[in-house]
Amino acid sequence: MSTRRQFIQTLPAVGTAFAVAGHLVLEDNPARAQVATVPLKEHFHPKGKAPSKYTLDVLKQARGGLPFADQRDFEELKKGFIAPMTDFKIMADAGHVAWDMERFQFLDKQDDFDSIHPSLLRISKLNNNYGLYEVIPGIYQVRGFDISDITFIRGKTGWIVYDTMVSREVVRAAWKLFQQHVGQGLPVSAVIYSHTHPDHWGGVRGIVDEADVRSGKVPVIAPVDFMDFTVSENVYAGNAMNRRLFFQYGLLLPAAPHGYVGQGLGQAVSAGAMGLIAPTRYVEKPIEEFEVDGVRMIFQNTPNTEAPREMNTYIPDMKALWMAENVTATVHNIYTLRGAQIRDPLSWSKYIGEALYRFGLEAEVMFASHHWPRWGNARIQEILRGQRDVYAHLNNQVLHFANQGVTINEIHNIYEVPKGLQDKWYCRGYHGSPEHNSRGVVQRYLGFWDCNPATLIPLSPRDSAPLYVEMMGGAQKIMDRGRQLHDEGKYLLASEIVNKLVQAEPQNQAAKDLLADIFEQIGYQQENPGLRNSFLAAAYELRSGIPQGETANTSSPDVIRAMSTELFLNFLGIRMDSRKAEGMRFTINLITPDNGEKFIVELENATLTNIKGYQAEKPNLTLTINRSDLEQTMMGAKTLEAQLADGSAKVQGDPSILKQLASTMVEFDPRFEIMPGTKGARVAAKENPYEASDLRLPIAE
Ligand SMILES: [Zn+2]
Repeated sequence: MSTRRQFIQTLPAVGTAFAVAGHLVLEDNPARAQVATVPLKEHFHPKGKAPSKYTLDVLKQARGGLPFADQRDFEELKKGFIAPMTDFKIMADAGHVAWDMERFQFLDKQDDFDSIHPSLLRISKLNNNYGLYEVIPGIYQVRGFDISDITFIRGKTGWIVYDTMVSREVVRAAWKLFQQHVGQGLPVSAVIYSHTHPDHWGGVRGIVDEADVRSGKVPVIAPVDFMDFTVSENVYAGNAMNRRLFFQYGLLLPAAPHGYVGQGLGQAVSAGAMGLIAPTRYVEKPIEEFEVDGVRMIFQNTPNTEAPREMNTYIPDMKALWMAENVTATVHNIYTLRGAQIRDPLSWSKYIGEALYRFGLEAEVMFASHHWPRWGNARIQEILRGQRDVYAHLNNQVLHFANQGVTINEIHNIYEVPKGLQDKWYCRGYHGSPEHNSRGVVQRYLGFWDCNPATLIPLSPRDSAPLYVEMMGGAQKIMDRGRQLHDEGKYLLASEIVNKLVQAEPQNQAAKDLLADIFEQIGYQQENPGLRNSFLAAAYELRSGIPQGETANTSSPDVIRAMSTELFLNFLGIRMDSRKAEGMRFTINLITPDNGEKFIVELENATLTNIKGYQAEKPNLTLTINRSDLEQTMMGAKTLEAQLADGSAKVQGDPSILKQLASTMVEFDPRFEIMPGTKGARVAAKENPYEASDLRLPIAE
C-alpha cells in the first residue's frame, strides 16, 4: 500500500505526469495567449516561470545585506565529523523509500540559484550534512537522517538516547552507522524525549524493544504530561492541519531549484513507520536532577514554549547543555502555518534566560535536536542571549505597536527584528518568519479582528468578489492591470486584484495561471521555507489542480493508544454533522472496565457532548467495552457492530441509538479546496498523496 509520504518521494515522476497534462490543457485553452511570460524549460512544471528581474534584484539585495562573512556555522557543522552516511536512500520496511538525500544534492552543485533566497539556500546547504559526528568525547550525533537529529550519550552501561527522530527505519540506520564507528556494541540504556512533537519520539521502536521498557531495563524519560499533549495538539483540527501541511511543507513540490528546497529545521520529514512507547518516568518539577545510567542530569521543564510540554537538559559533569528544540539555528514558529495555537514568545524567552543563568554561564558545549552544536562558553552565551532577545523583542515590540493601534493586518509590514539580531544567523527566520510570527503575537493577545467593523462580519470572499470584478470593469481589465502590475514587479498589488478575479471566477484558468505566476515570484523571494512553500504550493494547485485519489485510514496503533477516550469522544462531537442530528436525543452510559473509566455521552440540541466520571440514572443505552477493544473502533479496524457481535462490547437498552449516532458521522477528506477552482486535477494521481489520517500525520516541529 502506498502512503502519502511514499507518493511524495516519487514526485519528480508525478511532476512529469502533470507536465504532459499541462501541455494538453495549454493547447486547449485560448486564454493562454494572455499569459505573456514564457515557461522556463528547466522548471519542473510546464507553466513554471523563471525568476523575474525584480525577483533577481530582491535576492541580490538580500545577499548584500546578509552577514556572509560569518562562516562559523559551517565550521561548527563540520567539527567532530566521524563518518559520512554513504547510502543516500534509506528504505522503509513497507518497501518504499523512507529517506532520500539524493534529491537534495543539487543544492551543493552550485554556489547560487537565482530562484532561491540566498539565506534559505545557506540553511539548506547546512542541512545537507549527513553522517555521524562527535559533539564531545562521550556525546555523538547522527544528523541529516530526518528533519531532526538523534544524540547518543555514553552512560555507565550503554548509550542514553536523546530524541528518536520520526520513523524507526531511519533510527535503525543511524544506530547502525553509530555502532560501526563508536558504539562498541553497547546497548541503549535509556531514552529521553525532549518534547511532544513526533520528530522527537516517532522512531523509538527502531532502537528499543518495548519489552525492555516494560521490564524497567530501559527507562523512557519525558516531561510531565507528555502523553496528554502528544496527540491532543493535532486531533481536533487534524484534517485541516493535514491539508495545510501541503502548503507549509510544500508536499506536492519536487525538490528542485524552483520547488522544494528544504524545511529550515531539516531537509524533510522521513517516511518510515512511526511508533510510540509511553514514558516510564516523568520530569515533574520545574528543575529536577537525577542520574540516568550513571550520568548526572539536570532537567529544566519549559512548558508552553516550542511545544506544550518540553524540557532542556544539562549534564554538569560534561558541561554539556541540550536545548531540545528551544534553541536551534533559527527563529522558530510562534504561529505555525499549518495551524496551531499561538505559542508564547515571552515565556519562551524567559526559559532561555533561565537556562543562560542556570547552566549557560559554565556550559562548554550546547546542542539540540535540530541543526548542529556550539562550542565554547562565549559562543553559547552569545547564542542564548540572542535567542532570548529575539523572542522577547517579538513579543514586546509587537505589543508596543499594537498598543498604539497597529493591527494584525499591518503589523508584518511594520515590525522589524532589530538590526543587531538580523545580523546573527541564528536569529534568521528559517522556521518562523518575522512576518507570520508578528501577526501571531497580535492574534495571541487580541485575536483576529482589527477592530474595523468592515472586517467584523465580512462577506465570504466568493460573495464579495463578483462586485469587485464588476466595479473594476470586468475580467479583462483585471487581467490587463494584473499582468501590468506583475510585469512591473508589484506582485502583492497584483495578487490583490487577480485573487478577487479568481474568487469570482474559479473556472477562469487564465486568471488562475496569472495568479500562479504572481505567487511564484513572491515565493522565490522568501527567505522562510514555510512562506516560500505556501506560495509555490498555491501556484502548483492553481496550475494543476488538487491531485485526486482514494483516501485510506491508516492510523498508527501506537498513536491511537496515546489518545484518551475523552479526546476520542470530543473528536466524535467534531466529526458529527449536527445538521443530521436535528431532533435526535439520547443519553449513553459508556463504561470501559479495563481502565476503570466511565462517561455520559449525550446527544441533545444537535450537539454531542460527554462528561467523564459520571453515569446517567436512566440512560437510553449502556455500552460496556474494554478500552483496549474500543481502540479497534478508534482505529477504524473494527466497527462497534462487529464488536457487539463477537461479544467484546455489550449493550443494555436500545442499540439502534448507535446506528443513529453513526449516521451523523462524517469522514473528513483532506482534499478540500484552498484556492478556488482547483478541485479535480486533470490527471488523477496514481498514488494517493492524501493517504494519511489526521491522527497519523507526523507534524514535526
Ligand atoms: Zn522537532
